[in-house]
Amino acid sequence: MVIVDRQRCCYCGGCVSVCPVGSLNLAETRLLVDDTCTDCGLCLAACPVGALRSVESESPKVTAMPLSLRYDMVVVGAGPAGSLAALTAAQLDLSVLLLEKRQEIGSPVRCAEGVGRSEITPFVEPDPRWIAATVDKAEITAIGSGGIETLRSEGGYGYILERQVFDRMLAEEAAAAGAQVAVKTEATGLLQQNGAVCGVIVRGPGGSTEIEARVVIAADGVESQVGRWAGLETTLPLHDTMTCAQYLLAGIDIDPTCCSYFISEEIAPGGYAWIFPKGEGRANVGVGVQAGCTAEDESALTCLHRFIESEPRLAQGSPVTMVSGGVPVALPPRHLVTDGLMLVGDAARQVNPLTGGGITNGMTAGRLAAEIAAAAIAAGDVSSAALAAYERRWAVGLGRKMARSYRWRERFPPQARASRSFMRVFAIAAAG
Ligand SMILES: Cc1cc2nc3c(=O)[nH]c(=O)nc-3n(C[C@H](O)[C@H](O)[C@H](O)COP(=O)(O)OP(=O)(O)OC[C@H]3O[C@@H](n4cnc5c(N)ncnc54)[C@H](O)[C@@H]3O)c2cc1C
Ligand code: SF4
Ligand code: SF4
Repeated sequence: MVIVDRQRCCYCGGCVSVCPVGSLNLAETRLLVDDTCTDCGLCLAACPVGALRSVESESPKVTAMPLSLRYDMVVVGAGPAGSLAALTAAQLDLSVLLLEKRQEIGSPVRCAEGVGRSEITPFVEPDPRWIAATVDKAEITAIGSGGIETLRSEGGYGYILERQVFDRMLAEEAAAAGAQVAVKTEATGLLQQNGAVCGVIVRGPGGSTEIEARVVIAADGVESQVGRWAGLETTLPLHDTMTCAQYLLAGIDIDPTCCSYFISEEIAPGGYAWIFPKGEGRANVGVGVQAGCTAEDESALTCLHRFIESEPRLAQGSPVTMVSGGVPVALPPRHLVTDGLMLVGDAARQVNPLTGGGITNGMTAGRLAAEIAAAAIAAGDVSSAALAAYERRWAVGLGRKMARSYRWRERFPPQARASRSFMRVFAIAAAG
């Protein structure tokens, strides 16, 4: 039976139609081979990236992207946090490698794409290519045993992004500043010397390589493993995880300038539902629930379907994209650094625990971490003591705000959130 190299396969589907017996099936991002395969070998020649081989043969040779064997900094993960770290480091004249395991930066999207204008403009000039909608109103509705209450605010400007475009553009800026970017290239382990991190093991379509680095930045998102490899405790408690499902709904009639939030134990236990307009009768409509908090283990997707059915203006729409993901609504790990390594963004749990917003927090952390790393490299000391300046500056800056949001979240258990006082603290957090 033909064997698929998952590291190489780009799920293009090119091989499927050449199979004379229909043994290949492209299940979205996974190519499946069933046992009717006769080993005729025809599909091997149809694969543009050498991802197929027969049991007896070796994998076809694929050359690797030319990467150096040594950089000042390796950044793992090309989300907003990683790209900002790479961009900042390149601007500070460090040699930088930005690794992304996916074949396309920014895709698939795992986000509702809302950001405050004042939070994003310190990093990038607003650009119509990545702005789907501009919003200037927010409406928070709490539905509880005491009835329905709504809080409206106007004048707080924000954007609903096209994250696919936005994330790629940030990586392009890092590349333009001199960073080397590698896609479909995954960090699979760390190089360590006397307990200190001094590089990464990477696996790309061309195979595995060891790359040395003075500092490694772990910007590998909610699924982060890099910190754990370095001995940092980053396990996320279940109750500090928001599990989310979202559709981009098309064909709906909503206010294109208003973000709506719904706080209700029935709609979204321990979390909230949202409608973020994306222009042209479209909106990101989603539900985030506290993991383990739903009745009879209902999934976030079931909650989302119920929410859409309950709102006639949404029920008339059609989902054109489905998004799912987990959000770490936790306090940060005890340490964000160790010798030669720093955690940023979702990998460092730098998300607002009330709203789940983490894009600009991650960008702030990415920039700060790269600045501290550059100073440490220049001073010839990348020990945890030297890198701890990042931890301290985060804690007295945005970290303080995140800790306050976490305390509020703890103070209001899920059943106490449909209240005016919770709506007020939520409104403050949602406004940034
Ligand atoms: C449903 C949902 C809705 C959300 N809505 C909002 C919102 O409206 N506003 C907001 O501000 N935030 C929102 N967030 C949170 C926001 O998406 C994240 O906080 C943000 O993306 C974090 O950025 P990051 O760079 O830390 O991580 P990510 O954007 O997750 O990027 C991490 C990258 O690392 C890559 N990676 C992982 N492991 C490896 C490896 N070993 N080697 C190489 N690459 C690796 C991943 O492929 C990924 O591209 C939402 C999240 C979800 C799930
Ligand atoms: S080896 Fe032949 S039978 Fe098997 S999957 Fe490829 S084309 Fe189909
Ligand atoms: S042709 Fe190659 S890359 Fe495309 S789906 Fe088939 S195995 Fe994957």
